[in-house]
Amino acid sequence: MSDDNKLIEDSPVPDSPVVPNQLEGDAVIQFRCHKDIDCFNACCMNIDIMLTPYDIIRLKKRLGITSTEFLRQYTEPFEFGKNSIAGVKYKPKEGTTACQFVTDEGCSVYEDRPTACRYYPIGLLSTRRQDENFDRASYALVTEDHCHGHFEDRKLTIDEYRGEQGLEEYDELGRPWRQLILKVKSAGPAIGNMSKTSLKFFFMACYDMDRFREFVKSEGFASTYDVDQETMDKILVDDLALLEFGDRMIRQIMYAEESIPFKKDALETHLARRGDRKSTEHDDMARPSMAAYDMPLDGDEESGKS
Ligand code: SF4
Ligand code: SF4
Repeated sequence: MSDDNKLIEDSPVPDSPVVPNQLEGDAVIQFRCHKDIDCFNACCMNIDIMLTPYDIIRLKKRLGITSTEFLRQYTEPFEFGKNSIAGVKYKPKEGTTACQFVTDEGCSVYEDRPTACRYYPIGLLSTRRQDENFDRASYALVTEDHCHGHFEDRKLTIDEYRGEQGLEEYDELGRPWRQLILKVKSAGPAIGNMSKTSLKFFFMACYDMDRFREFVKSEGFASTYDVDQETMDKILVDDLALLEFGDRMIRQIMYAEESIPFKKDALETHLARRGDRKSTEHDDMARPSMAAYDMPLDGDEESGKS
């Protein structure tokens, strides 16, 4: 028996479709998916698909709707990790487990399908060692009974498969978010527990770009943060620039990784109000402007979906 087969035989979860050995990009898989295969669409009928911020930007543009509308109509929030990190999943078609975008002809958003759909049947495993400040990618092969692509006569490496599926771009643009998630997962927020407002801010700045843009246009933001005009001009029209700015803001609020200067008078006004000129608590500085804002998905949170 090969070492790989021994790993599979010894799996602590023998019924799991994920082959429990980590693979590198040069590992060879046998797989092909095409329209004439007898399982066509089977993988889209029982979905559990987490979306990345970049997935949402691509899909809302494809559909010509705002991120807020997209989140309401096509997704449901959930929490993952020990620190209750806010995530977003596809919401299936009402009363079914099928994807809302599957049709008899296949995926109706194929060119903009999310990262997880592109990767299938590969699972991306992002890990981070405690002594390192970057994530490492490895892969796992998912073999499920309904998927017959594993019996097709084609072999290729995982890296070749990733290239074929357009995943370099998705991985690149999803990396800051994955690193942030790994950081929250492994360490939690640096400044105490995240308040409900901060959690909502995390959700908005990661997933709801159109609402986040309204936030950075608000008076509360303008009176608190000193953002140069060039950056403002960019983030007001460019979702990717805004996503990157949101990552900086989250890191500033949660980890005091200060990269966005505060308005001098805003800090003084705030400290004077507190009567505590020694405090440099960044989270509090951010909260007044966040609290003034109507945060997203209140209704969904109350419904307890996860
Ligand atoms: S987005 Fe497309 S590929 Fe992904 S589950 Fe839905 S129909 Fe299938
Ligand atoms: S081969 Fe697998 S990925 Fe392709 S349609 Fe069938 S179930 Fe889906």
